[in-house]
Formats: sequence, structure tokens, C-alpha cells
Amino acid sequence: MKIIMLGAPGAGKGTQAKMLSEKFNIPHISTGDIFRANIKNNTELGKKAKTYMDQGLLVPDELVVDLVVDRVKQEDCTKGYILDGFPRTIPQAEALDKALAALSDKVDFAVDVEVPDENIVKRMSGRRACLKCGATYHLEHIPPKQEGICDTCGSELVLRDDDKPETVLKRLGVYHEQTQPLIDYYKKAGILLEVDGTVDMKVVFDNIVSAVTK
Ligand code: ADP
Ligand code: ADP
Ligand code: ZN
Repeated sequence: MKIIMLGAPGAGKGTQAKMLSEKFNIPHISTGDIFRANIKNNTELGKKAKTYMDQGLLVPDELVVDLVVDRVKQEDCTKGYILDGFPRTIPQAEALDKALAALSDKVDFAVDVEVPDENIVKRMSGRRACLKCGATYHLEHIPPKQEGICDTCGSELVLRDDDKPETVLKRLGVYHEQTQPLIDYYKKAGILLEVDGTVDMKVVFDNIVSAVTK
């Protein structure tokens, strides 16, 4: 099963992608996590990506497309994968479709997790992230068992640099301008699933699972 997660920053794409990845036993591929790992390791890609990410801007398509296309061709992706945070522009979506078509392959579902802008800024200020394993928590809604520590790997949790309210507003603007057109793109392709992302994360999850296994 090949699934794309769509939605505003903070809509819950990563949270759902992680659960779907465990349920279906397929890789969770988060371009944001890949960039953050590169920044942490101070790679050339990380240095380039950071200048855009810190401003709340998208990293240029040419830095992300090949990375994802190479990743989905790896052995562990033959049964499927969850793409989280990619594609984020129409050219990225077209490049993915083209690369998959060349392998006689295609995406099965694009899941749009819908959360109104008003909820997003509040959600993001409470987000805490583990930069080691990619897990995310929320101070109120989804707290870790031990304050400030990742349940999964025991690392320290942080407020991401780009989760400051000013940067979140910028990212929301970028989302509406560059990423939201993908909703129409996948609707036209007949593979769009729209889910309400404002309800409890377990309810969101059940709704996605029943839609993709129908
Ligand atoms: P969120 O989970 O809040 O939506 P991500 O972790 O997916 O954020 O992405 C963080 C940042 O990484 C983005 O604001 C953007 O700068 C960069 N990024 C991630 N994926 C992509 C992509 N597919 N294209 C361009 N930039 C990306
Ligand atoms: P995205 O990957 O779309 O940027 P995340 O999965 O990181 O979003 O979720 C953003 C924040 O909202 C995190 O702090 C997460 O714990 C929290 N969150 C995710 N799903 C829900 C939900 N259904 N209700 C409330 N908070 C949620
Ligand atoms: Zn962790």
C-alpha cells in the first residue's frame, strides 16, 4: 500500500504516518525527518536545507525529488510506504508520478488530514519533537510518559526551531500557496481521501484505516 499524507503543518501527518507504518509494516518516509537528520549530522544537504527551513520556506524541488525517488526504489519499499511531507508542490507530485509510472507503479491513496488554520498555531506551540527517532508529542494532547523525554528512544524532546509562532504562520502561508493545490491534483486522480484531523488521534487513525482497507 502506497500512501501520501497531505495536510497543513501540524495537521497530524507525522502522527498518523507513524501509526500507519506500524499497522501495515511498511516504511514511514518523512522528508522533514530526513532533512533534520542531515542538519544534525551537518551534511551538505543539511546545510542547504536549513537556510530554507529556518525561514519557513520549502526546500527547492531539486533537493528533494531525487532523494525521495531513490528512497522508494529501495528493497524495503516493495510492499509499500507512507510518504509524509512529500510531495509538497505540483512539480514534486508530477515527478513522483513519472518515476513510479516508469516502474509501472502508482500511489494508492492521498490522505488529506484537515485541520483549520486557527487550530494549527496552538497545536504547534505544544508540539515537542524527538530529533533522534522522529517521534512527536504534544504537551496537552499527547504528552510523553516522562516530561521532556521520548517514550520510544529516551532522547531529549525539543521545540523545533521552525515551530515558533511567526515561522508557523509563514509555513501556513506557504502551505496554502504551494501545497494545497495538491488536494485538487489527487482528487482529479481519483485517489483523494479527506479525513477530519481535529478529533482524537485514535479516531483519525481508525477513519484512515477503514478508508484504505475498504
Ligand atoms: P511539518 O511536519 O510541520 O509539516 P515537516 O517536518 O514535514 O513539517 O517539514 C519541515 C520543513 O522541511 C518544511 O517547512 C520545509 O522547509 C522542509 N521540507 C520537508 N519536506 C519538504 C518537501 N517535500 N519539499 C520542500 N521542502 C520540504
Ligand atoms: P505534522 O506532521 O502534520 O506536522 P504532527 O503529527 O507532528 O503534524 O502533529 C502536530 C502536533 O499536534 C503534535 O504536537 C502532535 O502530537 C499533535 N497532534 C497530532 N494529532 C493530533 C490530534 N488528533 N489531536 C490533537 N493533537 C494532535
Ligand atoms: Zn525518540
